[in-house]
Amino acid sequence: MKYALVIPDGAADEPQPSLGGLTPFQAARTPNMDAVAVAGVVGRANHVPESMPSGSDVGTMSLFGYDPLKFHTGRAPLEAAAQGIELGPDDWAIRCNLVTVADGKMKSFTAGQIPSDVGAGLVQLLQKDQCGSENWKFYAGVSYRNLLLYRSRDGSAPFSKETFSTPPHDITDQDIAPHLPTGPGSDELRDLMSRSVSLFASHEANAARGDQAATQTWLWGEGRRPALTPFAERFGVRSVVITAVDLLRGIGRLLGWDIIEVEGATGYLDTDYAAKGRAGIATLADHDFVVVHVEATDEASHEGQVEEKIKALERIDEHIVGPLHEHLRSQGDYRLVLSPDHPTFLRTKTHSHGYVPIAACGRGIDADSATTYDDVTAAASSLVFEKGCDLMPWFLT
Ligand SMILES: [Zn+2]
Repeated sequence: MKYALVIPDGAADEPQPSLGGLTPFQAARTPNMDAVAVAGVVGRANHVPESMPSGSDVGTMSLFGYDPLKFHTGRAPLEAAAQGIELGPDDWAIRCNLVTVADGKMKSFTAGQIPSDVGAGLVQLLQKDQCGSENWKFYAGVSYRNLLLYRSRDGSAPFSKETFSTPPHDITDQDIAPHLPTGPGSDELRDLMSRSVSLFASHEANAARGDQAATQTWLWGEGRRPALTPFAERFGVRSVVITAVDLLRGIGRLLGWDIIEVEGATGYLDTDYAAKGRAGIATLADHDFVVVHVEATDEASHEGQVEEKIKALERIDEHIVGPLHEHLRSQGDYRLVLSPDHPTFLRTKTHSHGYVPIAACGRGIDADSATTYDDVTAAASSLVFEKGCDLMPWFLT
């Protein structure tokens, strides 16, 4: 028995006035996703508890079958795991975005998708500024996604569960002042962020990027190491994840999954969809369960680009869902499930709470009457996972 999950990140959305009231799922031409709906069932799942901020860290943890209310400690520890950075029991990981702020507003939470080499130069400056500090350690990542670690030397740390920070992608075009970190340790985070302003202004390659230059860091997503039971222990399947996004690699690593790097997978709209589809098929040869995650739908939403969101969905359909399903069918018993991790609204350009549409087919899943996979069909279905973390046990058993 083979199992596959395809995640079009943030693909769930509202009806769009510009699409005559259709959602992106409805407007996109997705014959292969619809074939899953025809062969199986369509329903909906809520992966993000109301009390938690919506994001892929919370959403995918739930999608993989782990209750984020119990297991989620923050986004940064997951990304640290992705980079193979071990956290001690009292260490904290903090996400360090390179961002562009202008006139006090968050203009770009990616500093215009800053190239990794420029980003690494800035991270180097940040670390130099902290030389002599026992506690702070910066790690360069990909593009705007970098990490800061608080290494505890004496079992204590300035942060607690009451430390609060705001994801920068939730405040695009908004004033940053009301969204600065609050609670224990927040003064230290604010201080590090304001120190970055003059450091970044002094960096030539960064300044040369004009109004796309990173103007400062944005520190958020802080947390300690989560305690996740290995996936194989719970479900008895050998698993692999294909993603260009660090935090998904991190969750995968903490669950004991294999992680496959695909050349041309960018985590952006220009990702090589076909390469991901091929890799998904190839890895099934020696795994029971493959997860293919595509970030492009989420990025299109953050940029408010409805046409790009539709295009990304159509490419996922053509290059990933189609070939993967065909391969599974040709191999014998299988199950295939489609589910975003959370909605990301084009209207607000941010992650949202609420249901995402799911579709699943394969052995033991009796077809319902649904013929298309989209948000509206899902909303009418009686198949509902109020706790999204119940979807994976349902799918795998
Ligand atoms: Zn997401």
